Amino acid sequence: MSNITPQTSQNDAMRYSALSILANGLRGNRGWTPAWREPEPKAEYDVVVVGAGHGLATAYYLAKEYGLRNIAVIERSYLGSGNIGRNTTIVRSNYLLPGNVPFYELSMKLWEGLEQDLNYNAMVSQRGVINLFHSDPQRDAYARRGNAMRLHGIDAELLDVEAMRAMAPMLDFDNARFPIKGGLLQRRGGTVRHDAVVWGYGRAADARGVDIVQNCEVTGITVEAGRAVGVETNRGPIRAKKVALAVAGNSSQVAAMAGLRLPIETHVLQAFVTEGIKPFLDHVVTFGAGHFYVSQSDKGGLVFGGDLDGYNSYAQRGNLPVVEDVCEGGMALMPAIGRLRLLRSWGGLMDMSMDGSPIIDRTPVQGLYLNAGWCYGGFKATPASGLCFAHLIARDEPHPVATAYRLDRFASGRVIDEKGMGAQPNLH
Ligand SMILES: Cc1cc2nc3c(=O)[nH]c(=O)nc-3n(C[C@H](O)[C@H](O)[C@H](O)COP(=O)(O)OP(=O)(O)OC[C@H]3O[C@@H](n4cnc5c(N)ncnc54)[C@H](O)[C@@H]3O)c2cc1C
Repeated sequence: MSNITPQTSQNDAMRYSALSILANGLRGNRGWTPAWREPEPKAEYDVVVVGAGHGLATAYYLAKEYGLRNIAVIERSYLGSGNIGRNTTIVRSNYLLPGNVPFYELSMKLWEGLEQDLNYNAMVSQRGVINLFHSDPQRDAYARRGNAMRLHGIDAELLDVEAMRAMAPMLDFDNARFPIKGGLLQRRGGTVRHDAVVWGYGRAADARGVDIVQNCEVTGITVEAGRAVGVETNRGPIRAKKVALAVAGNSSQVAAMAGLRLPIETHVLQAFVTEGIKPFLDHVVTFGAGHFYVSQSDKGGLVFGGDLDGYNSYAQRGNLPVVEDVCEGGMALMPAIGRLRLLRSWGGLMDMSMDGSPIIDRTPVQGLYLNAGWCYGGFKATPASGLCFAHLIARDEPHPVATAYRLDRFASGRVIDEKGMGAQPNLH
């Protein structure tokens, strides 16, 4: 594991602290400077990272851990317009399979030190993630998962129904179809404010000299003699010694620009938030008898989500049948929420891989690197994904905790089927 320690930003004048808030407040808040620059893209970089989600974290760690300076992150829209600013903010490392466990635990450890590292308040809230179970076989499955976690040194507790009642009394425990029998709790799991993660990584990468180029769409990948040597964009060509793709639901389209066909399908996932209410739910809770999960934001809204929309789409919005389906799940779990008004819903483009696990790997095109296949769960992966992708790009070898995330596993059969769903991306 790489040594991630808090460091001072290069731009000390911009260091955020209680004192700087006080001093700026007394001066009418006129002393703040922009959190990142708006540079014009240069003609050439050492590394061009496409996509400003995991791409921002990648650029930050390339600069911080691997000493690269001449880096650009190319984003077709504004920072946070992708899934990194659209998710339901849940972070956890409650995985089962050896290919996944160390990776997600590294991510959890990075979350735990992220605010100090970035000098940015990302509202990391380790409020606990509870997966409910509703039958004896499901309890066995969660006990197995919890044991696997503990064998890897990760916290996990199996709660009985009385413990659950004490922690979340508003749940419908005695629902005739889905009685709650207990839950698997990871106390270190929780939520992190998603846009603060974008802004924190963006600001910290910029402070280390990374050019963040917004409103710049990659329209082609320049390949010469089998090697990626740059990208075409709507603002002109940019040469690069290495090109790294982290474009989530657009992965298939962008990889096709270099002649690659990926084992990825794009689906829409929706999220929802209600009007604000008093503190009601202290933890993140997932329903074990349907696809519904929920937490309460610091503003008081219940933030929840459920299943994919169920067909392929590149539209960042979903459809009403899934709204109904998700709300039914919510009503089955906690009928009291039927009295709340839904304030907003939105959708994001999920890069669904065939086994539900991600890809962080080189591609058959030299100098072209791929970070994709995050499905529902890539927000929690952001720090480790950025670090491991940076490691791969800088060293041309996988980071020790990401060796299983190979692109060729779909050909060799070494899939990481965490959910046991088989090759059905719409089910992962
Ligand atoms: C509704 C919803 C809820 C979710 N909830 C959770 C959760 O609670 N916990 C969790 O761990 N995960 C969650 N996820 C999943 C998580 O958000 C994603 O897996 C993760 O953010 C993916 O990161 P990324 O960097 O690959 O993608 P993104 O953040 O989408 O970044 C990719 C970027 O690439 C840009 N791009 C695309 N094409 C081009 C191009 N041609 N040129 C330039 N730029 C381009 C896009 O504009 C985008 O900004 C959720 C996702 C959604 C949609």
